[in-house]
Amino acid sequence: MMNHIDAINVFLSRLESNFCVTLPDARTIVEAFHREMSAGLAGKESSLQMIPSFVGRPCGAEKGRYLALDLGGTNIRVLAVELDGNRNAAIRAVSRFVIEQDKMCATGEELFDYIADCIHLFFKEHGVDVQRTFHLSFTFSFPVAQSSLTSGRLIAWTKKFTACNVEGQDVVALLTAALARRRMEFIRVAALANDTVGTLVAGSYFDPSCDMGVILGTGTNACYPERSDRILKCPEPGAPSEMIINMEWGGFSQLKTNIYDRLLDEASPNPGRQRLEKMVSGMYLGELARLIIVDMMTKGLLFCGVSPDVFSGQYLLHTEQLSGAAAGFDFFADFGLTDVSETDSRTIREISRIISARSARIAAAAIAAVVTWMDAKVERFHTIAIDGALFEKYPGYPDCMIEILHDLLGEGARRIRLAPVRDGSGIGSAIIGAVALHNHLERDVNN
Ligand code: ADP
Ligand code: MG
Repeated sequence: MMNHIDAINVFLSRLESNFCVTLPDARTIVEAFHREMSAGLAGKESSLQMIPSFVGRPCGAEKGRYLALDLGGTNIRVLAVELDGNRNAAIRAVSRFVIEQDKMCATGEELFDYIADCIHLFFKEHGVDVQRTFHLSFTFSFPVAQSSLTSGRLIAWTKKFTACNVEGQDVVALLTAALARRRMEFIRVAALANDTVGTLVAGSYFDPSCDMGVILGTGTNACYPERSDRILKCPEPGAPSEMIINMEWGGFSQLKTNIYDRLLDEASPNPGRQRLEKMVSGMYLGELARLIIVDMMTKGLLFCGVSPDVFSGQYLLHTEQLSGAAAGFDFFADFGLTDVSETDSRTIREISRIISARSARIAAAAIAAVVTWMDAKVERFHTIAIDGALFEKYPGYPDCMIEILHDLLGEGARRIRLAPVRDGSGIGSAIIGAVALHNHLERDVNN
């Protein structure tokens, strides 16, 4: 008969192989990305939406003080950003708000009123004089079909958001209406940008070799500058030579899934969608671990004598807690578990490692796909601007990405730099606002 420890080890080694992204798997991901990117750019059926952003990279000389509103999956940040015109951006004031859960699933009007209230609090907190007009850039971390720099319709909510009467609507119009309801007409929305686009723009403002923006936070997504002649679905004569494409890579669907992925997807607010995001991003890693923990407890392989009901609530284990376990801070007390054995602690650390390693390897394979799409042999230097607490805080996450990049690209991987850009999505949208305003003023002068 197999003893207890052997049974645990057998379970964990099966788990490891179910979550493993081997080198051939990673190569398959790269190839599938190239196919889906090509289809998405041509307007054909694809799990990558490849959305034109109407924005190119900045030149680094943008200057002035701008306001930015960054609506993420978990946080709202309002920032005043100062650009010195010489590749330096400084945050002069910032207010952060953790988005209240009930606002995410309220009505659209209530959600946008809440966002307007956050902006109001920012003004109050920093004693900003409201006598003049403020130009605000709006970073919106959800898929939007953008029709111009200042308008775009929400395609579908992702992450935990479900607020009604927003899908299909122009989110700038919704924000503008909420600002009017709160008597803040002195704020004008100068630009609408996806958070990935903001991150790339911020990264390339600091460093001209930056040609990719990646989000690894509550959600995950990426963007890169594409040659206009390759964006077959929107041929625009006289268009600038490149435009940033928001890939919406969280929707990528060509990945090997396991039983936990399927359980998570079926019980999620958006079944069948955001398949890559559900295997990679911070919103879901804790939930994957919870499903594994419940399975192991039911089989008598973990926390013996404790009812699995302790872990029965959906999304009740957070990625922060799983990440803490990897760093040696267990979450057992949060669930009323005392006297946890060393074997159980080790099991949790293993689960944490297995889940985060798969996330990091998929994210890195996807980065390799985009870099080789732009530069097949990776002959140039590529700085990848990355924003998000998952990348920044999960122990070992960047190293795990670098390892698979080396396996995939060999020497070429040395020319890829993963650069964290804290608050990049907000700073970048301020830069986009600066460019928009500058172009607007120039147009006025020339007319
Ligand atoms: P947003 O997604 O709202 O822009 P962040 O980029 O800060 O915000 O990402 C927040 C997400 O990052 C959280 O939802 C969580 O999943 C993950 N996260 C937060 N703290 C940690 C941590 N210490 N370790 C790993 N992941 C974390
Ligand atoms: Mg964010």
